[in-house]
Amino acid sequence: NQGVLCTPQMQQDICEYMQLSNHLYRALERNELVLHYQPQIHVDSRSIIGTEALVRWEHPGLGLLPPGKFIAIAEKTGLIHPIGEWVIRTACRQNKAWQAAGLPKIPVTVNLSVLQLNKPSFVQQLDAILQETGLEAQYLELELTESVVMHNLLATIDALAALRKRGIAIAVDDFGAEHASLQYLTRLPIDKLKIAKPFVQGMAGNKKDAAITSAVLAMAQKMGVRAIATGIETPQQVALLTHANCQEMQGFYFSKPLPPEAMAQLLQHGLAGPAGTA
Ligand code: C2E
Ligand code: MG
Repeated sequence: NQGVLCTPQMQQDICEYMQLSNHLYRALERNELVLHYQPQIHVDSRSIIGTEALVRWEHPGLGLLPPGKFIAIAEKTGLIHPIGEWVIRTACRQNKAWQAAGLPKIPVTVNLSVLQLNKPSFVQQLDAILQETGLEAQYLELELTESVVMHNLLATIDALAALRKRGIAIAVDDFGAEHASLQYLTRLPIDKLKIAKPFVQGMAGNKKDAAITSAVLAMAQKMGVRAIATGIETPQQVALLTHANCQEMQGFYFSKPLPPEAMAQLLQHGLAGPAGTA
């Protein structure tokens, strides 16, 4: 007994949601998911110190879809569990294969959804994947957003402690973008903060963004936590961050996320020239 108004855009969104969620059930078994890898750079040495695995969906009709189009659907439908497990296994297997091919031994980072970390069997699942792929735990890093961390703080502390005991590093993604409770920094066992893109990208034009970025970098250093700046697109941002004592960076300026073959080439040959044109 109600009338509902719907704009053409809403109608289109609902159709897209239905279409994608129906297909997502089959995407894994049809091998339509792929991982791309974005390098993380130590600026002074221009060396690659890690890679972040980012999932994409090679949709048969719609082309290569970014995670923004389907991770939320995967979370709603519960498909995030098999998809998340596939992502961890594939990233570990790929990193081990690169190491076996003689490429530099560096960690691969995987993004986690809150639902994955809260699953009681998650730590066992990780153990099984590390054993199966032969990747040493120190070469796997997990990235959580602040909302994941805050969701269930006590359970999260236990899960993170269990992971760190194994040698798996924990990074907080998009630091400063959401809750940014400083209290959790004192309570959570974490290794690394990833400074959210908007602060980094605002640094050049906005004194407040620059002040926050510098303060987070100084705080991380004093706490003995590593910090990495993300979303770097310009040489000016590199200069400002270097001036603020930030050495670890990730962004399109150095490289976009790459398919595994291209990432292997980059690992082998390193970044091109000082302009970061790789
Ligand atoms: P994120 O973890 O913050 O990953 C970085 C995102 O920023 C990536 O988008 C990357 O392509 C983009 N990016 C990197 N450098 C730059 C830059 O210089 N400028 C700009 N404008 N963007 C840059 P992508 O691949 O579309 O991923 C979006 C988000 O999807 C990720 O954000 C992450 O939260 C989520 N995600 C990706 N893969 C997975 C996954 O396997 N599992 C889960 N649960 N989430 C994932
Ligand atoms: Mg991330």
